[in-house]
Amino acid sequence: MKKHLLLLSLLIVTALALAGCGSANAKEPKETVKIAYLPITHSLAALEEADEFEGNDQIGIELVKYGSWPELLDALNSGQVDGASVLIELAMKSKAEGVGIKAVALGHKDGNVIVVSNDVKDGADLKGRTIAIPHRQSSHNILVNDALSRNGLTTSDINVVELAPTEMPSALAAGTIDGYCVAEPFGAMGVSIGAGKVLYTSEELWENSVCCALVLTDKFIENHPDTAKAFVEGYKTAGNNLDPETTKAVAKKYLNQKDEEVLDISLKWISYDDLAITEEQYNELAKKVKAYGLSDNPPAYADFVINDF
Ligand code: ZN
Repeated sequence: MKKHLLLLSLLIVTALALAGCGSANAKEPKETVKIAYLPITHSLAALEEADEFEGNDQIGIELVKYGSWPELLDALNSGQVDGASVLIELAMKSKAEGVGIKAVALGHKDGNVIVVSNDVKDGADLKGRTIAIPHRQSSHNILVNDALSRNGLTTSDINVVELAPTEMPSALAAGTIDGYCVAEPFGAMGVSIGAGKVLYTSEELWENSVCCALVLTDKFIENHPDTAKAFVEGYKTAGNNLDPETTKAVAKKYLNQKDEEVLDISLKWISYDDLAITEEQYNELAKKVKAYGLSDNPPAYADFVINDF
């Protein structure tokens, strides 16, 4: 019996040492990158990268989860984090206001839909409807404008409201709103519960659309150039590694969405390969940002985007 106890305590000590609890030999990465994110499918490349860097003795990635864009933006703008996966329009606005940040990669490709109640017949039938977006500074706002413009309408023909993404599917089901466009998986939730249907996918309205970006602070890039480079390279690799199976596993791990059907619907709309931000793509975004009144002075590509370190 005594022998067993001794063996047990030996095992516990070994386990604690391996877990790094109180062990002087615990391996800490040399540098840690602190990345802010929201639990949405649009941030999965950053989340996958954090998993891939686990146990790396050079670079560690510390993920910091936020509940809303304004909270995440506060952390980014005040330098509490080194970077974020964020709506690019919000980052552009911060940059225009003097915050030192750079966009270094796309968050994802495509991945947005406009969901409308089942009684909305077509795009022209958006007239007089109430449509929700998460934030004025978003590609969701741009996509709604694109949908209206395709049907000869403008935002003055509809009622645009800002709503928290989590509230959108239930608001559509309750008839408080007639449609919405927002980061995923909330569009897929509306479809999954039968509250609505897809009116447009983002690629139907805007080819090579830009939505979220990975941004890093200038301070971090200047003080840790090698780590920044390795981090961005690792991020793009993680994006390329997001095959359907891996994507679903990461989504299930990090998102508050356990409904398989919702994820299956949502993940069909999005991809993460080749996440470079091209000048052509960015200029098209800047043009839309100005045309739809999101901002009069979006930052120039050369001032805001780093495409290769
Ligand atoms: Zn996005």
